[in-house]
Amino acid sequence: MVHIVGAGCGAPDLITLRGKAHIENADVIIYAGSLVNKELLKFAKRGCAIHDSAKMTLEEITAVMTEAEAKGLTTVRLHTGDPSLYGAIGEQMREMDKLGIEYDITPGVSSFSGAAAALKTEYTLPDVSQTVIITRAAGKTPVPEKEALRSLASHGATMVLFLSAGLLKEAEDELIAGGYPPDAPAAIVYKASWEDEKVCRCTVGTLQRTAQENGIKKTAIITVGGFLQSGFARSHLYDPDFSTEFREAKK
Ligand code: SAH
Repeated sequence: MVHIVGAGCGAPDLITLRGKAHIENADVIIYAGSLVNKELLKFAKRGCAIHDSAKMTLEEITAVMTEAEAKGLTTVRLHTGDPSLYGAIGEQMREMDKLGIEYDITPGVSSFSGAAAALKTEYTLPDVSQTVIITRAAGKTPVPEKEALRSLASHGATMVLFLSAGLLKEAEDELIAGGYPPDAPAAIVYKASWEDEKVCRCTVGTLQRTAQENGIKKTAIITVGGFLQSGFARSHLYDPDFSTEFREAKK
């Protein structure tokens, strides 16, 4: 059995109880060494074989899993944040399906949630935006044409960019071409929830400069949108004039 586990975005105590239990029971751990906090490996039992997937190919990862499976061992595949986002678990699950290896998935705290926490903001403010667009700037990995940053930007919704810290000039140009004024609010969150976390508030037009000035080249979430401004309507959820499933309106 292989357990795909979301490690959370940095701080080791952000892993779920289930994820931690899987680590404690694992005979083999394959972790994404580039981003997973190594503190989490301290939960592994003595004798657990530990592999860093940053140095491995898909074939090598599959071989480790296959060998563990043949010996009846339990493997944890530890991914950063939540495995469903930019984790490349799709191709690993496809290999396991082919080989008849059973697996399950334990979700984790994604860095886009970690970034909102660092910013102390809500992505979905009433009257500002009720939509979060999670995407990336096109770089070495292409993005489908229909999802070009400029066309997504045209919605004016909250935007969260992964994997884009090295592409900020292109991102700025695309976001502005899509309709964000250069002075629209933006923020860069570097290493959310890690001890060296940095939160830089800026504007769409100063994303690249801000990253440069703060020495940020990777491991950052870029956010854009009106949610970063103060000023928004209150929600119906806690409005005394509004009934919900759990509470009657006061009048
Ligand atoms: N599955 C992960 C994302 C993996 S892709 C998740 O859910 O968070 C790697 C990208 O995630 C990085 O380039 C960066 O954009 C982002 N990232 C991962 N950890 C981060 C963190 N602690 N703070 C800010 N961005 C982070």
